[in-house]
Amino acid sequence: MAKDYYEILGVPRNATQEEIKAAFRRLARQYHPDVNKSPDAEEKFKEINEAYAVLSDAEKRARYDRYGDVDTSGMPDFSADIADIFEELFGFGFGFGSSARRTPRRGRDVQIEISLSFHEAAFGVEKEIEFDRLDTCSTCNGSGAKPGTSPSVCATCGGRGEVRQVRQTFLGAMVQTMTCPTCNGRGQVILSPCPTCRGSGLERKRVRKQVKIPAGVDDGTQIRLPGEGEAGEHGGPRGNLYLVIRVRPHPYFKRRGDDVLLNLDINIAQAVLGAEIEVPTLDGPARLVIPPGTQPGKVFTLKGKGIPHLKYNGRGDQRVIINVEIPTHLTQEQRQLFEKLARTFGNAPTPREKGFLDWLSEFFGK
Ligand SMILES: [Zn+2]
Ligand SMILES: [Zn+2]
Repeated sequence: MAKDYYEILGVPRNATQEEIKAAFRRLARQYHPDVNKSPDAEEKFKEINEAYAVLSDAEKRARYDRYGDVDTSGMPDFSADIADIFEELFGFGFGFGSSARRTPRRGRDVQIEISLSFHEAAFGVEKEIEFDRLDTCSTCNGSGAKPGTSPSVCATCGGRGEVRQVRQTFLGAMVQTMTCPTCNGRGQVILSPCPTCRGSGLERKRVRKQVKIPAGVDDGTQIRLPGEGEAGEHGGPRGNLYLVIRVRPHPYFKRRGDDVLLNLDINIAQAVLGAEIEVPTLDGPARLVIPPGTQPGKVFTLKGKGIPHLKYNGRGDQRVIINVEIPTHLTQEQRQLFEKLARTFGNAPTPREKGFLDWLSEFFGK
């Protein structure tokens, strides 16, 4: 249900701009969180501001009247709008932004690349990584104060981080809250700053860490280590550490999803007569039976010899793609045997309906 902005401001739908403004002033004074301490005052106050932001803008109001809704998400930053209206109405802004400034800031995320061999990516590995990040200052333990001293309570704000000013306006006395200019809202001041971090409480440190890379990661996989990024300011939470996996190419294994592809050359006699051969796999040599009459491009599947799935159990397969090697250098004896063999075959080439290229497109889907 769209909000009824007229109802929120308590004005009729045909209210004039003057009436809307008057209603807004009355309600804003009533619900401003500095004046009204009831728990839902801030929510109500925001609602009033939202209603006013729409109804005071002729274009937005027309849209709202026509469609019953206005996309307030398109408004840049609502609190900025509120501040503007207050500036316009009362001649000064309110302390709404101050709490944001005082909020401890979350530390930044850190991203580092980690290079793995094909095998390490497949089966997982524990690696030591080294990187720089902002950490809690070890000289002052993050307080920012010189060892032996401690931050003292800010005299300007008495430790509250904000100062209040009572202003006389045409609406009567208004309380304005702002971030304390002396301590920047922290409530404390550091009289003798820590020499290492100059009072920030943070220090750049080289960090060494053991990380566990799970089996099945691929080139480009990101691993998130929550809370291992940089330390936050003023006691804010740490950022995250992201490991970006880079996999070095293997001399003959290729990866496709969780399957391992291997091109294998067999000789012409093995293709014709069949053979039992050994093929390399991630787990070491495996036996493969080549049946007689195996064509180039034939693919054999070694079930479960592929890469472990990263997110579930089981492994991909290894696919062995057969290439038949045509000999280019023959011994005297081989040459004679081939010549003898040649006489037993006819001379005419035979067109084929389906060949290696068709197979390739079928196998790789396109
Ligand atoms: Zn320090
Ligand atoms: Zn202060």
